[in-house]
Amino acid sequence: MIPAAFEYVAPTTVEEALQALAEHGAAGDDVKILAGGQSLLPVLRMRLNAPEWVVDLSRIPSLRGVRDGGDHLVIGAMTTHDAVGHDPLVHEHALLLTKAVTHLADAQVRHRGTFGGALAHADPAGDVGAPALALDASFVIAGPGGSRTVPAGEFFVDIFETAIGEDEILTEVHIPKHTGWGAHYEKFVRVAHQWPIVAVAASVRLDGDTIAEARVGLTNMGSTPLRATAVEEALVGRPATEDAVREAAAHAADGANPPTDLNGGADYRRHLATVLTGRAVLAAAGRNGTRVPG
Ligand SMILES: Cc1cc2nc3c(=O)[nH]c(=O)nc-3n(C[C@H](O)[C@H](O)[C@H](O)COP(=O)(O)OP(=O)(O)OC[C@H]3O[C@@H](n4cnc5c(N)ncnc54)[C@H](O)[C@@H]3O)c2cc1C
Repeated sequence: MIPAAFEYVAPTTVEEALQALAEHGAAGDDVKILAGGQSLLPVLRMRLNAPEWVVDLSRIPSLRGVRDGGDHLVIGAMTTHDAVGHDPLVHEHALLLTKAVTHLADAQVRHRGTFGGALAHADPAGDVGAPALALDASFVIAGPGGSRTVPAGEFFVDIFETAIGEDEILTEVHIPKHTGWGAHYEKFVRVAHQWPIVAVAASVRLDGDTIAEARVGLTNMGSTPLRATAVEEALVGRPATEDAVREAAAHAADGANPPTDLNGGADYRRHLATVLTGRAVLAAAGRNGTRVPG
């Protein structure tokens, strides 16, 4: 289907984009931000949404790229998934993101879709939310009154809902450096290049054979990405062996409220979460090839 007609503006600075949001929003118009269009355009084509104005961020150079911010990386909201996946700084300091975006959709979508767009879209089955949450990302949001920074734990509010206001733009995502940490994203799909039924993002820092620190995030196990804190706590101080990891991974679904849909029921997803968490943690710890039996 062809989208309903809308007015279009493509500003070249964040300030101009904010002005467009404020101006048309104040006039009572429904205004949507366009990033890579990989989620918004299907919605417009199906006429599930028919905004009067579309503000395209693609011509704002300051929103693109990855840079070193000292103890953290700064990822511009309009950086494509492909650029994140191939960035050497991300590979060195936030390997979990490299691993996660490699499994996101297909090459075409990765070249158009953006890191910030996917986070702002907040699909609970999206592949970048759980890694960002697990790595303690913070989100820089620009609005009419200036910029504010929101921690990952407060950014994801509900299905397709974040802390970004209607007159605001996500400009940057800050990822604390996890240099030297092992990482793995274990994604369970029925069909290749699809959103996960469940996925697990795991990153661990080893001290010898012992897990010194662990970060575990869950995709599609609730209305927002989740942090598997019970697993993280159970892993710390334990050897990175199959038995110890499996014991910790048994807590993966604690407190989760996964959905039931055509791909599987809530109980099936709880079971998947424990199995995939075991696999993800073992792979992150370099115990590749080991498979935790389901
Ligand atoms: C065939 C196909 C398969 C896919 N498979 C997967 C998959 O396996 N895993 C996965 O995670 N994703 C998948 N996606 C989605 C993909 O990751 C998109 O890139 C992502 O969901 C949206 O990013 P975008 O840049 O295209 O944003 P857009 O579609 O342009 O925007 C999405 C939403 O976010 C808002 N928005 C965008 N940028 C900002 C910003 N900077 N500030 C405030 N609001 C903003 C928009 O207004 C819109 O509401 C798939 C998409 C397609 C078409």
